[in-house]
Amino acid sequence: MEDCIFCKIIRREIPCDKVYEDEKVLAFRDINPEAPVHIIIIPKRHIASLNEVSKEDLELLSHILLVAKNIASENKIAETGYRLVNNCGTDGGQTVPHLHFHILGGRSLGWPPG
Ligand code: AMP
Ligand code: ZN
Repeated sequence: MEDCIFCKIIRREIPCDKVYEDEKVLAFRDINPEAPVHIIIIPKRHIASLNEVSKEDLELLSHILLVAKNIASENKIAETGYRLVNNCGTDGGQTVPHLHFHILGGRSLGWPPG
């Protein structure tokens, strides 16, 4: 996906503040943080949204959950708490069409979301 911002980050055509990387995923700090800790986790393979995942992606999705847990711990928000968010589609508020999960923490988060 040549024009996808997150694919460009994966290809290092756009810089990012990387916090974690392995063969399957990349995690970096959000450029416009909504909380003291705001980290984005993305699969390295382009998947447009949660609507596009299938059974073949289950290992990737569970891997993302484990990476999120570890990132929360390393960023000292595991004890205080955090939120893992996926915005899907227009009503979900998705602005970048590459599957991603937000880790938000470091402050008390309101519920329900707006
Ligand atoms: P969403 O609205 O769920 O699609 O989230 C997209 C997120 O990506 C937003 O929170 C943006 O601030 C963030 N974002 C967009 N471009 C970049 C970038 N170049 N580096 C880091 N985060 C970005
Ligand atoms: Zn992409």
